[in-house]
Amino acid sequence: MTQTLLSVEGLTKRYGIGDRATTAVDAVSFSVGAGEVLGIVGESGSGKSTTVRCLMGLERPDSGRLEYDGIDLRRMTFAQERRFRSEVQMVFQDPYSSLDPRMRVGAIVGEPLRGLRMPRRERHDRVVEMLELVGLSAEHLDRYPRSFSGGQRQRIAIARALVSRPRVLVCDEPVSALDVSVQAQVLNLLRDLQEQMSLAVLFIAHDLSVVRYLSDRVLIMQHGRAVESGTRDELYGDPQHPYTRALLEAVPRADPEGERARRAARRTATARKEPAA
Ligand code: ADP
Repeated sequence: MTQTLLSVEGLTKRYGIGDRATTAVDAVSFSVGAGEVLGIVGESGSGKSTTVRCLMGLERPDSGRLEYDGIDLRRMTFAQERRFRSEVQMVFQDPYSSLDPRMRVGAIVGEPLRGLRMPRRERHDRVVEMLELVGLSAEHLDRYPRSFSGGQRQRIAIARALVSRPRVLVCDEPVSALDVSVQAQVLNLLRDLQEQMSLAVLFIAHDLSVVRYLSDRVLIMQHGRAVESGTRDELYGDPQHPYTRALLEAVPRADPEGERARRAARRTATARKEPAA
């Protein structure tokens, strides 16, 4: 059995009081094992972001137990919290607002390494290595985010998230703000990196087609509740809940398998090196 890294049990979060209270997350439970990918899917307002915010310590849950590597997130010592902050990293939805426009790419990607007492040279090499892993290069170190496309900015955000070699990556709708044409490329990249680095990934999306390609297991949320969960094959092959079926009938937006095949075909047809989107 794989080691459980993230564990959420009975997470509940309400906003407001009395008659006007909204239960954003209602007794949700799930876990993510080392090297495993869990997709959480639901429409806007189903409680996905609130779940992530509680997990990352940005919201205080009303009840429930949240653990990282067996440690209660609300009872972490300073050292445990530091370890959590370094081992659990996030990629956000909007790469336009998540990168500081005044910082150069080298500084953005290297930021998580600052507290790690790493020699300058080693830090530089690690940043370049990460840029190359996401399809960019040392040439981009001194540029500012404004000179990059949305897809490239998300690659920079991914490089920053992975530079400290975390064990868990939390992706909150990481391709929703991107052009459909580059969504599949960023999904392919995330999958390659997940495999290479044996990452545990919590992948939030409002669209089942987006998580299908990466997820080992999927959890469906509706109105703050977890209405169905299962392995990828169970969920896509034999959905039980009407809401899951409705989500499955929604039009697919990204098609990484197709994109991968098209790119492979293009590569064989021409030796020209394609720039990363
Ligand atoms: P999702 O990420 O699936 O779109 P959210 O977690 O953002 O869903 O929201 C779940 C519910 O909680 C929604 O009804 C939303 O209006 C409500 N909600 C989220 N954040 C707040 C907040 N800060 N104050 C009040 N209500 C909120």
